[in-house]
Amino acid sequence: MQNNNNGYKTCPGCKKEIDYYETVCIYCGQEFEVEYPDERAAYIQKNVDKYLRKFDKMNAAGSGASWNWCAFLFTFSWMVYRKMYGLAVIVMLAMFAIEFSAGMLSIYADGGTSANLLINVIDIVICIVIGVLGNGWYQTKVNKLVKEGAELPAEEKQQHYKKGGTNVLAVIILALISGALNLLLM
Ligand SMILES: [Zn+2]
Repeated sequence: MQNNNNGYKTCPGCKKEIDYYETVCIYCGQEFEVEYPDERAAYIQKNVDKYLRKFDKMNAAGSGASWNWCAFLFTFSWMVYRKMYGLAVIVMLAMFAIEFSAGMLSIYADGGTSANLLINVIDIVICIVIGVLGNGWYQTKVNKLVKEGAELPAEEKQQHYKKGGTNVLAVIILALISGALNLLLM
């Protein structure tokens, strides 16, 4: 199937435009094989063009920094959606530790008057950090999976691809957990 050069293809079933790397048509349910341009794509699965372009740009610039709106806006949800669970936990713990220290500092400095402001500023900084570093973290994950996969026999490859891709359920679980925590802490 042709990539209509903008990351889309025309579904042979319903003739609608869908993401080039979609294996099932979201409109009519038709299934088809997808040819990936390289092994990384088989692990990225969604928005392949977007991420490969970002990775190429970062590598050309020799930089781990980039910008990802999704990562900036959805932070931990984006991380678990892209299956970066361990990293999400680490960054979250780091955020709590920094916010806790800032809260303590504020109590010491002005009886806690500035605590809310400080925590809001830290929240925004964390969003920016994830927005800037997210693509780099994701590239590290994808490259690691490609390396692991390269040593596997062909019949185990399909199973291994499932370590890539996205996880909507994890995003829902994260939302439920943070909702429950908010209720408990209120
Ligand atoms: Zn279709």
